[in-house]
Amino acid sequence: MIAPDLDSAVARLKNIVAAATTVVPFTGAGISTECGIPDFRSPGGIWTKNRLIPFDEFLASQEARNESWRRRFAMAEQFAAARPGRGHRALASLYSAGKVLAVVTQNIDNLHQASGLADEHVVELHGNTTYALCLDCTARYELPWVRERMDAANGCAPDCPACGGHIKTATISFGQAMPGSAMQRADELARSCDLFLAIGSSLVVWPAAGFPVLAKRNGARLVILNREPTEFDDVADLVVHADIGTVLEPFIGDRTSSTDVHRF
Ligand code: NAD
Ligand code: ZN
Repeated sequence: MIAPDLDSAVARLKNIVAAATTVVPFTGAGISTECGIPDFRSPGGIWTKNRLIPFDEFLASQEARNESWRRRFAMAEQFAAARPGRGHRALASLYSAGKVLAVVTQNIDNLHQASGLADEHVVELHGNTTYALCLDCTARYELPWVRERMDAANGCAPDCPACGGHIKTATISFGQAMPGSAMQRADELARSCDLFLAIGSSLVVWPAAGFPVLAKRNGARLVILNREPTEFDDVADLVVHADIGTVLEPFIGDRTSSTDVHRF
């Protein structure tokens, strides 16, 4: 059902969270817009500005790699300045309370970790843009290292000094294989939770968008919190079309919903 107004939405969500034992939040770009990172599909979003660079193009073309890194560095200040928002902090409170064991995210901005979740409790389906990896030997590189080399080579993106492989932010591009272990963990979390909270995702990017339905089919309640409708609103137990920070703010610091759950 769609919550009629903000107060009843928050009250219902509080009841649903209190009744749940294991909550799995599943977050998308919408949770980070208040942190200054635009989403993909809203007006002014990233897709309205840039044609995306598919993975095969990144592999095939030095110019595509240069362009991809130029775009990343054009957003460097935005990513560096971003701090966890109210949504991140609310989920961190549920995590401290033991209700949330791990967050599954489509985001690449590292803000769940910045809000206090341990790295191993953030399941990143699309990777992380705050560092880089060699696509061949998986050596890790920090972004200032890449930037220095590009600057020193007339904007030419560097390859891995160890093996010659291409270096890319640790994100998953369109056309790139999904990370197997993150997909498997997300699958397990979706199957085993009793409440699945889809927050700030348009739920159109597959296979990530399959998890809310998977959770629902396995008996979890499903809540969708997003400013715009999604195609899964019909199957959700509660749908809240409102601003994420406003709806989740009352959960910040909330220990009333604490439960005795062991985290592994
Ligand atoms: P999306 O852009 O498709 O959808 C975001 C949704 O959030 C939209 O439906 C929008 O209406 C809603 N939204 C935005 N701000 C909101 C707010 N304050 N309150 C309520 N709703 C709000 O994003 P997606 O579903 O996450 O999928 C796109 C892909 O984009 C992701 O897989 C991710 O890898 C990538 N991405 C990540 C970031 C990030 O890390 N912050 C930013 C942009 C894109
Ligand atoms: Zn390498």
